Amino acid sequence: MDSSSKLFEQRESIRVEALRIGFDACGFARVDEVESSMCDAYRRWLDEGKQAQMAYLGNHLDLREDPRQLYLGARTMICVALNYYPVRFQPRENPQFAYYSYGDDYHEVMRRKLRQLAVFVTALSGDEGRVCCDTAPVRERYWAVRAGLGFIGKNAQLIIPGRGSFFFLGELLTTLELPPDNPVSSRCGDCRLCMEHCPTGAIVAPGEVDARLCISCQTIENRGDISSFVAERMGNRVYGCDTCQLCCPWNKSATPSVHPEFVLTEELFALDADRFETMTSDEYSRIFRRSAVKRAKYAGLKRNFEIWKKNRNGGEK
Ligand code: SF4
Ligand code: SF4
Repeated sequence: MDSSSKLFEQRESIRVEALRIGFDACGFARVDEVESSMCDAYRRWLDEGKQAQMAYLGNHLDLREDPRQLYLGARTMICVALNYYPVRFQPRENPQFAYYSYGDDYHEVMRRKLRQLAVFVTALSGDEGRVCCDTAPVRERYWAVRAGLGFIGKNAQLIIPGRGSFFFLGELLTTLELPPDNPVSSRCGDCRLCMEHCPTGAIVAPGEVDARLCISCQTIENRGDISSFVAERMGNRVYGCDTCQLCCPWNKSATPSVHPEFVLTEELFALDADRFETMTSDEYSRIFRRSAVKRAKYAGLKRNFEIWKKNRNGGEK
């Protein structure tokens, strides 16, 4: 077997292992510098303050723009996706949480599975690799496109053709040099549904979200007051917002996740307005002990609930 056939075989054996571990998609990108036009656009977005309270997005720009500095000798980015589209939903009359927060915090689930994949890759290459999942300064959606997983929609989400956008992303950097997959180009066409349906107009240009206006950012990351403009448009949401995904035609083909970790917990299912009203800090910690909702903190979630009550009583725009 010549060396290029061997590399293709190695790549496919990693892909098979990734699917066996439980990932819903897996692709491969050659690691080099992020395209300069993408770096410029990102820096401009930061300069304009559109990251809002997420100041950490401006950290480690050098690493963000070149993952080879994140993991010395990295040659391949293995990109994976995990489906979190719910099997069952919250009752519509309850204060609403974004689908991704229905079950366990995905960071742990993703890391556990990526570490399993890393063990397999180590057996092939001798290299331990570096696992990344949201917390490392990696342009996750950019690399997922380069690795052929999908394209970035006008809603700024990674969309997997035929499967939608309700996916968590993760990466494994390795020094193993593997043949890359083909990038996927945009398939939004003339559609603008997400831009039209966003309650606050936060999608200010195709693929560009102004987090100062985004309900998802404001309900989760904002530790102070939410502006009345955003608050009046939060509707029945208390944590996150799925609107620009729900209206996307690509999500008509979303199928329920098979991962038990992401199933709506009984406690969240039962969290109606009365329980929310009386929920103490200790109860909050218990209900969300394994959940991404901890990010919003007790005070933040209670603040959001007060807005929910106002909107229920006729304040919603
Ligand atoms: S998450 Fe909601 S508020 Fe943010 S861009 Fe999407 S639709 Fe708009
Ligand atoms: S709603 Fe339309 S424009 Fe927006 S991401 Fe989906 S396909 Fe693209």
